[in-house]
Formats: sequence, structure tokens, C-alpha cells
Amino acid sequence: MADAPIFIDPKKCIGCGKCLKGCGFDALSMVASDANRAKRIAQVDPAACKACYACIGTCPVKAITEVKIEVFGTKDLDSYRNIWVFAEQSHGKIADVAFELLAKAQTLQKQRGEGCKLAAVLLGHNLTDEMCQSLIAGGADIVYKVDDPNLDNYEANVYVDACSQLIVKHKPEVILAGATAVGRAFFARVAVKVRTGLTADCTQLKVESTKNKDTGVMQMLLHQTRPAFGGNIMATIMTPNHRPQMATVRPRVFKRGTPDPKHSGEVIAEVLKLIAPQTRLVSSVRNADDVDIAGAEILVSGGRGLKKAENFEMLFKLAKLIGAEVAVSRAVVDAGWCTASRQVGQTGKTVCPKLYLAFGISGAIQHLEGMRASDTIIAVNSDPNAPIFGVADLGIVGDLFEILPALVAALEQQKQ
Ligand SMILES: Cc1cc2nc3c(=O)[nH]c(=O)nc-3n(C[C@H](O)[C@H](O)[C@H](O)COP(=O)(O)OP(=O)(O)OC[C@H]3O[C@@H](n4cnc5c(N)ncnc54)[C@H](O)[C@@H]3O)c2cc1C
Ligand code: SF4
Ligand code: SF4
Repeated sequence: MADAPIFIDPKKCIGCGKCLKGCGFDALSMVASDANRAKRIAQVDPAACKACYACIGTCPVKAITEVKIEVFGTKDLDSYRNIWVFAEQSHGKIADVAFELLAKAQTLQKQRGEGCKLAAVLLGHNLTDEMCQSLIAGGADIVYKVDDPNLDNYEANVYVDACSQLIVKHKPEVILAGATAVGRAFFARVAVKVRTGLTADCTQLKVESTKNKDTGVMQMLLHQTRPAFGGNIMATIMTPNHRPQMATVRPRVFKRGTPDPKHSGEVIAEVLKLIAPQTRLVSSVRNADDVDIAGAEILVSGGRGLKKAENFEMLFKLAKLIGAEVAVSRAVVDAGWCTASRQVGQTGKTVCPKLYLAFGISGAIQHLEGMRASDTIIAVNSDPNAPIFGVADLGIVGDLFEILPALVAALEQQKQ
């Protein structure tokens, strides 16, 4: 039957019904044979079949076979070369995540081997030479610069148009972008437009020689690892049959490298015929509560252990005394004690401060995912078995309602 992952040969089927018992998804039934209405044969419901192939072994006459699905991939896979990083910018300032990705892409470039170049894609209007040079110092061998009035303000449609035109023209093997509001919104659309796959929110990336399961050919593939099933497992995803291999990475997941002013690179000014934006920017207003916890060097973070919203005043006091920002766990946001802009974790922000102080946070995997790369972690928790102690450099088992006020008082005294 069309589109089903298995084929039941009506000539071979003897109607014994054994396969029905072997299917755990009720995808098989007995029907009258078209050729001989008196004969009953098995048929599969393509919508219910889960392609587990358990039925194949149950048939005594080998009437059931697996339908080989032809893989439609990108043509000329080998013509795709080089690693690209999307250099997100706003008002002439390149986002930190672009430099973090360039640093990581340099490692991938080495893994990919000789002949692989690293390019940055810079889209916008009135782009400066200084911006291009900073990308070259960050590791780019090539900067593809598209300076066009249509790219003056970010609009997803125009960015998609520009990026996909560049991909079609230059055929990169890998493209990375920051999982920022901009990256998330337009990059997935680029993947659809150029008909390839995209792995969002990767936490690890590496290039490794890997056997293509469909063709058996060894390929250098990008292994894109990200948390799956609520952060309980890490899944490694590959794009063996389509190009480019596309991935997004949240800010602060990878560390920024030290700029190398001696690194040389080429700036290629691309002139593209772009679609016109469909929106006009009237004004932009910054959200008053849009706190940059991802950029903070010290974070004082509070969890459900603080018990109620008013108790966060202590945390803000401590933060002020040590020049820190306040961060929170999701439980705090869900309880309505704080806004989501301060949330750390899988569904919040990824942070990598020099110091992360955690008060009354248990250390659920989804929280750890957003802060475990911090340079130093100090945790205060009354439960000695709290998972947060598994990642903490210094753990204090105790009551935060004693420790926090004492710390604030000591620091206040020191300031006087
Ligand atoms: C799909 C999904 C995504 C998620 N994303 C995120 C995310 O992005 N970020 C996030 O944080 N969570 C996330 N979560 C929720 C996460 O699983 C946890 O529920 C959450 O992190 C718990 O927050 P908490 O540690 O503040 O609270 P709890 O787990 O309730 O921990 C409170 C801690 O406070 C301690 N404590 C209590 N009283 C005191 C005291 N007096 N002194 C000292 N310690 C005390 C307790 O021992 C306990 O360890 C997500 C969950 C799912 C399913
Ligand atoms: S492949 Fe699995 S789900 Fe499909 S009919 Fe056979 S046993 Fe049922
Ligand atoms: S087990 Fe094989 S022979 Fe028996 S009903 Fe199923 S397909 Fe037909």
C-alpha cells in the first residue's frame, strides 16, 4: 500500500493472521484479497504504522518486507565547502555571540582539515571596515558583507532572502548562528528555503568522520549535540544528505577567543537584488525590565528556597553591594516572583559569569544547562543532597535565611 513503511505481498500472504498479533500499534488488519475475494489477506494502515518492523519476523511465508525509502538530498554534496558564522549586528555593534561562534568555528575548521575556510556573513546598512576587521581578528578568513538599505533594520524576510542567496552562490558546508531573537526567527526560515536541516540550541559541536547510514559513504559531518526530552538526554543530530549543515547556539555557550590583529582575511562586498522590507520601523523602545544577565560578570541567583517575592529584596541588596545582577530559577518566574528576563536555564538564558552564587536552587538539569559553564559556582542549600552541589566549586549546607542576611550585614559593615 502506498506510503506505508512495509509492503505485504498479496500473492505470498496466506492469511494466517500471525502478523496482527506481532503489531503493537494495531496497524494491521485482515481484508478480502482483490484478486480472490474469498481469500483474506493482511493489510497495513499507513497512518497507524510506526515503522517498527516487528511484523516482518512474524510472517511464516516472508510476505512482509521493508519499503526502502529513497533519500532525496542535496545534489553535489561535495561541492559544498567552508564553515560560515552569521555575524549578527545591531546599530553597528556585532553581537558577542558572533565572536563566540567564530572561536568555536576555528576548532571545527581544524577538525574539518586543510582547505576549509572560515567565513563571517555580515548583513546590514552602513557597515564599517572596523566591523569587518573585528571579524577577521576574531578568526574569519573571509567576510561576506552585504551593505544594503533594505537591511537597515532587521526584518526576517529580507535577511532570509540575503542569506539564502549567499548560500546558493557560495555553497557553504556548515553555517552557525546565535540562538538570539534574530537568529531564531530568521535562520529556521533560511533552512526551509535552501531545503536543509537545522539543529537549534546546540551545546556541543564537532566535526568528525562519520559513515552515512543511507549511502555507506564516510563523510566529515557536523555532530550537533543538544538537550532533548526536557533536558534529560543529550541528542546528537547530523545532516548527512543535505547541505549546508545548520545549527544555532545560545550566547555564552562557547567562550569568546582572544582577538588576533595579525590574522589576515578578505572582505568580499556582495551586491544582491533583495526583496524590499514589508515593515517600517517607527521607533524602538527598550524594555525597562530587559536585564542583561547574560553579560553580567557576577550573578546572585535565587530559587524557590527564598519562599516568597519579598525575600528577593535581600538578593537585590547583596547584588548591589558586590556589583552583581540578580538571576532566578524558573520556579521563581512560574510563581510570579520575578520576570522571565532574569531566568537562567534551558528555557531561560545561558550565562557564563565569573561568579555564580546560587541561593535556594536545587540544581535541576534544566537549570544547570544554563549556568554550569560559569567560572566559579558557590551554592547555598539546606539539603546536602541537592544536585546543585554536583556542579558547585564551593557548597554551603545551611539556611539561606541565616547566611544571606549575615553576608549582607558583613558587606555593609565593610563598606562603612
Ligand atoms: C521543559 C522544562 C524546561 C525547564 N526550564 C527551566 C529553566 O530554564 N530554568 C530553571 O531554573 N528551571 C527550568 N525548569 C524547571 C526545573 O525542572 C526545576 O523545576 C526548577 O529549576 C526548580 O527551581 P528551584 O531550584 O528554584 O526550586 P526547587 O527545585 O523547589 O528547589 C528549591 C531548593 O531550595 C532549597 N531550600 C529550601 N529552603 C531553603 C533554605 N531555607 N535555605 C537554603 N536552601 C533552601 C531546597 O533544599 C531546594 O533544593 C524546566 C523544566 C522543564 C520540564
Ligand atoms: S511495521 Fe510495526 S507498526 Fe507497522 S505494521 Fe509492522 S508491526 Fe505494525
Ligand atoms: S503473517 Fe504473513 S501470511 Fe500471515 S497474515 Fe500476516 S502477512 Fe499474511
